[in-house]
Amino acid sequence: MCLDNIAIDNIEIDNMIYENDLAKTILENTSEGIAIADQDGSVLWVNRAFSHITGYGINEIYGKNPRILKSNKHNETFYEEMWHSIEEKGYWEGEIWNRRKDGEVYPEWLLIKAIKDENNKVDKYVSLFRDLYKKYRSKKDLKYKTYYDPLTGLPNRYLLKDRLDLLMAHAKRNNEKLAIVFLDIDRFKRINDTLGYNVGDKLLQVFSSRLKHIFGVDVTISRQGGDEFILIFEDVKGPKEVINHIKKIFKRLREPFKLKDYEIYVTISAGISIYPSDGDGIDNILRSAEVAMYRVKENGRNNYELYEYNMSNEISQQLKIENYMIKALEKKEFILHYQPQVNTITNRVEGAEALIRWHHDEMGYIGPMQFIPLAEETGFILPLGSWILEEAIKDAKEFQKELGDEFIMAVNISAVQLRDENFVGRVKKLLNKYDLSPKSLELEITETHIMTGPELVLRILEELKVMGVKIAIDDFGTGYSSLSYFKDFPIDKLKIDQSFIRDIIKDKNSQGIVLAMIDMTKRLGLISLAEGVESIKELEYLKKHGCDCIQGYFTGRPMDKKDFIQKIKKCDKR
Ligand code: C2E
Ligand code: CA
Ligand code: CA
Repeated sequence: MCLDNIAIDNIEIDNMIYENDLAKTILENTSEGIAIADQDGSVLWVNRAFSHITGYGINEIYGKNPRILKSNKHNETFYEEMWHSIEEKGYWEGEIWNRRKDGEVYPEWLLIKAIKDENNKVDKYVSLFRDLYKKYRSKKDLKYKTYYDPLTGLPNRYLLKDRLDLLMAHAKRNNEKLAIVFLDIDRFKRINDTLGYNVGDKLLQVFSSRLKHIFGVDVTISRQGGDEFILIFEDVKGPKEVINHIKKIFKRLREPFKLKDYEIYVTISAGISIYPSDGDGIDNILRSAEVAMYRVKENGRNNYELYEYNMSNEISQQLKIENYMIKALEKKEFILHYQPQVNTITNRVEGAEALIRWHHDEMGYIGPMQFIPLAEETGFILPLGSWILEEAIKDAKEFQKELGDEFIMAVNISAVQLRDENFVGRVKKLLNKYDLSPKSLELEITETHIMTGPELVLRILEELKVMGVKIAIDDFGTGYSSLSYFKDFPIDKLKIDQSFIRDIIKDKNSQGIVLAMIDMTKRLGLISLAEGVESIKELEYLKKHGCDCIQGYFTGRPMDKKDFIQKIKKCDKR
């Protein structure tokens, strides 16, 4: 909206206010609020609409500075920019939130013009404004909705961009630095999934007010959507200063959030970029902070990280992998390798774990840790997982012909696959197609995957169990759940994570944990398998303490199909 229709540019207000009765009558009766102030900003005259909109009569405001109308919705920079424009261009026009005498905060469209005398010095200031409150209300707070997040009341991504634009211009002019902090609540989705959206929403609200409480109005805090927040710190001297600010948030997060019947501890991942060194435009500087935040997530969350130039190279590498991955299936670039699983008592190979390998023409060998998490994120794990399952079942049949019917094929399954409705049906179909007995197939599911939705997983595992398929819990010990939790799950095997085996010879703690796991596995009537066994010492230690099976470089690295059959035939005559 614009007040051009009032044509203030053409009105010689200075000369006419007191002299021209007609003009005075017009100004007095127009529906726009008008105030005239002297060169120091003290109010000399206001019209009727001014008093009507602000609640202040001429007697209450005469001689005062219009500052008394200030809401605290804008930061200092906003006003600095405004005055800068008035000094440079002679006027400022824009939307501003002010406060009425009764305390209500309202938006207005404001034009401030400096009126100069014959010596080109500012003599008076004229302000004209229109109350936008009704318009906001009648349009169902459309503008408010456009610029503010309804859940938390924080500026949203659009307002953030507007502000960032202003702040960057200001910083550039004054040779200052800005810090942009990209905050993301760790595992927020899990809170939503397990405790419901109401609790999730409440958490976002309380989290926002904690941020506001820590930083007040000097820091722009906005919600980008979901559990993502962006903070802008102005005029920072360097990264250290920002880190000190961030530490305040981490400190406050040591207190739990009390939400309805729950007490929740929350951690965050924060990425920091500095303007102008980490990006010139708005999009670049935001992206740099986001890239740094993703780095924190990759490194285990609950931390902060400063943007480094190399990070964005890594991200583009990831995007490349994502694109190539989809074509790789058609181009038959994936193959399965097999790693033997050996019984510690009989020393026989009881089965193998299928591990995927990807060889790309240009990028070379890409390890599963690089692309499986990406495939899970993008959903590509569904077609890829189906391919893995079919390939492994087909090869299992072949292995059985060569090595005997007892051979068991273990296949890694990701949680995304379990959530696919057709999963159990597909397993059944493939077993039929290749005529493999269900008891020759073992599905490995990680402990953390189970924890993301225990009820659903339990139902699916039970269906698989009824079919006769075996279930192993992978990476056991890394998912913070207790063994007793699994007593209700139809599990056959626990695979003790390799991080516990690595130090088992030297480290008393690792020994204690592993022995407790083996012991409890026995009590629950399950099979224990130690992963990552690399030496005879480790093997002997585990055997001595009753671990049923081992897997690791000591008894065999993952090998392709041909090598696997050859090696096993040579050392394990059945
Ligand atoms: P995982 O299921 O825990 O697989 C065991 C990993 O340990 C494999 O790494 C294996 O090569 C490695 N390993 C085996 N023995 C030793 C040892 O003695 N020492 C050491 N240091 N490492 C050993 P890999 O093949 O790189 O796979 C990494 C992870 O990628 C797997 O961890 C699994 O989570 C995932 N993955 C691999 N193949 C598949 C697949 O077909 N489907 C799914 N969903 N995930 C897969
Ligand atoms: Ca595994
Ligand atoms: Ca494992």
